[in-house]
Formats: sequence, structure tokens, C-alpha cells
Amino acid sequence: MLRFAPSPTGDMHIGNLRVAIFNYILSKQRNEELLIRIEDSDSARNIEGKDQEILQILDLFNIEYKDVIYQSANLRFHRALAIDLLQRKMAFNCFCSSDKLDNARELAKKERRAFRYDDSCTHLSASQSIDNPNPFTIRIQRAKNRVTFKDLIKGDMSFEPEDIDSFIIMRAQKLPTYNFACAVDDMLSDISLVIRGEDHLSNTPKQIHIRDSLGYEKRVEYAHLPIILNDDGKKMSKRDDASSVKWLLSEGFLPSAITNYLILIGNRCKEEIFELDDAIEWFDLNNISKSPAKFDIDMLRHINNQHLRAMQSIELSRYVGFADADIGELAKLFLDECSTTKELKLKIEAVFAPKVASEEFALSVEKIRQVLLDAPYFEEFDEFKKFVIDSTSIKGKQLFKSLRILLSNSEHGPELSDIYTHTKNYLKEIVK
Ligand code: GLU
Repeated sequence: MLRFAPSPTGDMHIGNLRVAIFNYILSKQRNEELLIRIEDSDSARNIEGKDQEILQILDLFNIEYKDVIYQSANLRFHRALAIDLLQRKMAFNCFCSSDKLDNARELAKKERRAFRYDDSCTHLSASQSIDNPNPFTIRIQRAKNRVTFKDLIKGDMSFEPEDIDSFIIMRAQKLPTYNFACAVDDMLSDISLVIRGEDHLSNTPKQIHIRDSLGYEKRVEYAHLPIILNDDGKKMSKRDDASSVKWLLSEGFLPSAITNYLILIGNRCKEEIFELDDAIEWFDLNNISKSPAKFDIDMLRHINNQHLRAMQSIELSRYVGFADADIGELAKLFLDECSTTKELKLKIEAVFAPKVASEEFALSVEKIRQVLLDAPYFEEFDEFKKFVIDSTSIKGKQLFKSLRILLSNSEHGPELSDIYTHTKNYLKEIVK
């Protein structure tokens, strides 16, 4: 079983979507199922409705999953297993006050060393614990040995017990910390491979240590994906619009193109333009670069453009507000200048909008327009053109520019005869 474990705390970030896509691909390749786990344990950070939004995005991107579970539903297991660790002395109650811990943290910062818990509550006797009226947290006992694992992207990893620390697994409110909930949930769902962002790399030895302490013997495999950088070489954050999947969709990028791009960056791929199903055939985690991937919106535009070219015309027409293959074909004519459905929609809207002509062509445009309002239907552009010339005596540049303006609302653009082919059925509406 593989899992994608988003937190419902904000708009879905492209880094998260990339994690979801890779988990989906690996689940297909390994013939294992994919589970969605909504990590809603930190209720103060949850945002109402974000879980549904995430699931809708997964559907839109054709990421199939077996089931959706909510981390908070596992709370009784988190508590039961924390008690199990306490009983087996693999964990201990910690009565250190937040003030004391904050001061120790401050001091560590001043002395430029990492804060480590001083283990002052490790050896409290049972009666010292029971008699203490103060709120307490539960900490896991420090690991006895180094924790090692082989990351499928980063290679061999090794962490000293000192660095893993005797960290908190249950807060004073008796709610699990992120690491405890996550480690337990992966165990309960029998997860075999965890693919996630490298910001979680330092959590992994803690989670392995938790499962070791619980006596769980199965080795979970890990792959930590390098982060995605923006133009300034900084981690893509909420401040970068393009980091939001919702924003990219609203800008007219296709799910298939976003998927293509997120698989392509920081990776060695067989081809540049592909569909998700193709990638399942050849995708290999070993080809993922160890260094960060760089987000390049121009490359995404190029890929989007290629996906738009390959799209069924009828489908494309829906993106621009129609259900007619001809309008889809018309939209494709603009792909030399446009790369998103949003841009194409503006072009198609302009075709149907009242025409704006410069002074130079205004008279010709109006004259031709009047003639076209009563013109018969012509199958061929040449017949249509001949009719206009015969009826108006307008020729040359005046004729072509005016027709362009009438058919596309622009003096420049695709071949006039091509535009005519896909607008002739709407002519009256277009020149009205
Ligand atoms: N909920 C975490 C996140 O959204 C993911 C944790 C994980 O995959 O283990 O970053």
C-alpha cells in the first residue's frame, strides 16, 4: 500500500501534487493500492473544505485511489500505542514546563547548538509521576543505536540517537504529535513505500524509531523528493502564484500538461511530451535528480501548448465555451500565439464580440459587414472572397485586413482562409 498524506491547511501546492502523482505512478507500477490520508490532526491549522478541494484536484488529475481516511479517526490507536510504549518503558511522562523548555531552547540557540531534551524526566519513578499535578507530555526514549535507511533518491542515510532526541509523541492535551501520528498511521495501513517532500527527511528517523519502539518489524521504504525552486532560486512558496494548483488551473493550464511538467522537472525522461499513462510505463525514481528542480513557467506553457494541439477539438471547444469541434479547430489556429485555454478563450470571445477597426479600415469593415449580413452561405473561402469583392469592389490590403477584423477582431493572426473554414457556420453571428 502507498499513501498520499496531504494536510487540509491550504491550497494544494504543486510540490504536493507532484508527490501525489509519483505515489500514484509507483502504486500502479508495483501493483499496490493508493490510500489518501487527510492529515487533520492539528485541528487549529485545518481549513474547512480543503480536504474536499484536495480530493477534487486528485480526481481532476486522474489520480485514482482506493480509499480516503482521516488521521483524526486514528486518535484512539495513537493513544493506545502511546500507553503501550509507556508501559514498556519505551516512553516516559515529561513534566518539564513550556517555560523551562523555551529557555533551554533559547540557550541552545545562543550557544549555536541544536536543542536536545536533557532527559530530566526520563528516570522519574512511578510515584513521582503519579504525584505530580502538572500537565505532562509523553516523550519517546532516545534510540539506543543509529537509525539508518536507504532513501530511493538520496541514498544511504544515517542518524545518531542524539540527533533523533527523546522527542514528544503526545502533547499535554493528549493529542499525538505529527511524527507519532504519521509513524503509527503508516504502520496501521501497512504502507510499503513513502514518497514525500524532502522537507520531511529529518522526520523519517524519528518515525522509524517510533515503529522500532513499537516492535514493528516491517521496513518501510522511503523516497524524499527534492524541493521545487522559483525563479529567484528560493523554495516555491505561497507567495509564488504558480505554486498553487488552483491558480495554474484558473490560468488555463491543463491537468495533463501540469502532470507532464511535474514529472519532467528534475528528472531524466524518455520523452518531453507525454500523458500520465505513458509515464507509468517508464517512470523510474532512480532518474530523479538529487538536487532541487527549478520551476519554469515558459516550459510549462510550451508543454501546455503541445497538449492543447493534441487535444480533441470538441474537448478544446468546451474550454472556450462551446461544444463544437469547429470552434475547437478555430481555437487551435491561435496556438501559435497562445498557450493556455484562458488565452484561447479570449481569442474566441473576440471573434464573437463587436469588431474594433482602426480608422484606416473602418469604412471597408462597415461596408463588407453590411454585405455579409445578407450574404448567402459559401462553402469555400475563395467563393466567399469573390462574393465580397464583387459586392463591394474592395480589394487588396483593404479587403484582407477588413475581413480579418470582421472574422477575428484583429489585423494579424492565422490564415484568413483557415479562420473562414471554422467560422463560416457562425458568420452572421460573428459580423452582426
Ligand atoms: N501532511 C504532510 C504534508 O502535507 C505529509 C506527510 C507525509 O507525507 O508523511 O506535508
